[in-house]
Amino acid sequence: MNDAVLLSALEELRPEALRFLEDLVGINSFTLHPAGVEANADRILQQFAPFGFQVSRFACSEPGTGRHVVLDSGGTGPVIAFVSHMDTVFPEEEEKRNQFGWRPEGNRLYGPGTYDIKGGTVLLWLMLSAALRTNPDLFHSVRWVLLWNAAEEILAPDVGEIAHRLLPPSTRACLVMEGDGGTESGLALVSARKGTGKFTLRVAGRGGHAGNQHAFGANAIRQMARVIEAISALTDYERETTVNVGVVRGGSVDNRIPHEAEAVFEVRYFDAAHYAEVRQKILAWNGEGDVKAAADGFPCRIEIQIDFEVSPWVEKPESLALLRHWREAAQALNETLTVQRRSGLSDANFLASHFPTLDGLGPRGGNAHASERSPEAGKLPEYVDGASFVPKAMVNWIALRNLLAQKN
Ligand SMILES: [Zn+2]
Repeated sequence: MNDAVLLSALEELRPEALRFLEDLVGINSFTLHPAGVEANADRILQQFAPFGFQVSRFACSEPGTGRHVVLDSGGTGPVIAFVSHMDTVFPEEEEKRNQFGWRPEGNRLYGPGTYDIKGGTVLLWLMLSAALRTNPDLFHSVRWVLLWNAAEEILAPDVGEIAHRLLPPSTRACLVMEGDGGTESGLALVSARKGTGKFTLRVAGRGGHAGNQHAFGANAIRQMARVIEAISALTDYERETTVNVGVVRGGSVDNRIPHEAEAVFEVRYFDAAHYAEVRQKILAWNGEGDVKAAADGFPCRIEIQIDFEVSPWVEKPESLALLRHWREAAQALNETLTVQRRSGLSDANFLASHFPTLDGLGPRGGNAHASERSPEAGKLPEYVDGASFVPKAMVNWIALRNLLAQKN
């Protein structure tokens, strides 16, 4: 097929794609705003309706969220799955406070979720629409399965489970539409992502009057501070393992010795053996602490629990085989294409152990998860690069075409 025909189809469809993006961005779909996530789903289904795929919705295991959406073309052809998500990290109140909404400025299209990941959903529509228009026989020879997570930002694992139920083991590719990591001079896919462990630390001390009973107090905040210092020091950049304490709570007023304190923290890693070591050192803090009341030795008690763990996605031969098609497509189109290992997680973490997976198929952009705009202070919010949709859709479709031309 002539790639000029594909290019002109993409160019023709681009204005509609950007209107679709503007609509999605205009509907707040913060993870914990289920009505907004559902409204996003409805708008997506409206846009994808002409394909005639079968719609299913699945309840999410996380309370207070929307439902996942799946579109399935059916048929007996080779299976290609795409994964995106509908939720964003921005509550409606924050969007209002920071006046953060749809705002095009040249190629930069600012707005909540433009890059993570509504732009990815739109690019998927753009690519499939151009493929159907220019290469209908190939389009109809494939079983397309499109999955949208309603709660990716809080790492709901359901889409991984749904994919395992719906997709055959022979699935040719599981393609995640998270944003491209490239700069203006090139594109960048993702072939590995860190795993994570999330923990809660609780300290119980003994309270009392900060003046009269100081020697009887076992200060829970002081104990927590010691634990925080020790676990933070387990960060090892060389081995790519990091520890971050993200939340602390404790105490009420300055004239009381605090009897309780709590912290939430996470570990991120590629190397499972190193994580096992770090995890063991963290859990070894459970039990009696070293901060004790001076008067009678009453100790603080430390409790650390694992809230959840997600395995890393490390480079696999199946992903690298997929990547070869993307490299060849980029080369044929004179696009520079690099590959990244990312510290952030995505649905790929739940898919890669079962299917050949590649991530970062969405458009280019920047400042994901940021909502503040104050250029003089060096702050700009999330945006997607409007000029990256067509070239990225070209690369994706040509790579897929080559993949499908190759017999399994
Ligand atoms: Zn995302």
